[in-house]
Amino acid sequence: MKFLVVDDSLTMRRIIKNTLSKIGYTDVVEGGNGVEGLEEFDKGGINIVLTDWNMPEMDGMTFVTKLREKDANVPILMITTNAAKEDVLEAFKAGVSDYVVKPFTPETLKEKIDSVLKG
Ligand SMILES: [Mg+2]
Repeated sequence: MKFLVVDDSLTMRRIIKNTLSKIGYTDVVEGGNGVEGLEEFDKGGINIVLTDWNMPEMDGMTFVTKLREKDANVPILMITTNAAKEDVLEAFKAGVSDYVVKPFTPETLKEKIDSVLKG
C-alpha cells in the first residue's frame, strides 16, 4: 500500500508518517505542495493520497481537482485545519473521499484511512 503525503509542513508530514508507520504503513512518498504532489503521483503506484489544503505554489483544493482529472478513483483524504462546513463541502465537491480536521488523533486517522480504502 503506497501512500502519497502532501503537506507544506515538514513537521506535519513527519507526524503523519509516524502515525502511518504505527498502523503498519511504511511505503510513503511526500510532496511539499500540489505541484510536487502531482509530480510524485505521476511516477505511479500510489494507492492513497493524504493532502493538506493550505500550501504555497499549489493549494490542496487545486491539487485535488487536478488529481481527479487524472484519476477518478484513487482515495484522497484531506487533512486540514479548515473546519468550516462550507470548506468541507467544497472539498467533497472537488473530489476528496473523506476529510480530517487537524489536530487529529492516530485513531481518527486510522479510521478514516480504513474507511476510504474500503471505498
Ligand atoms: Mg499547510
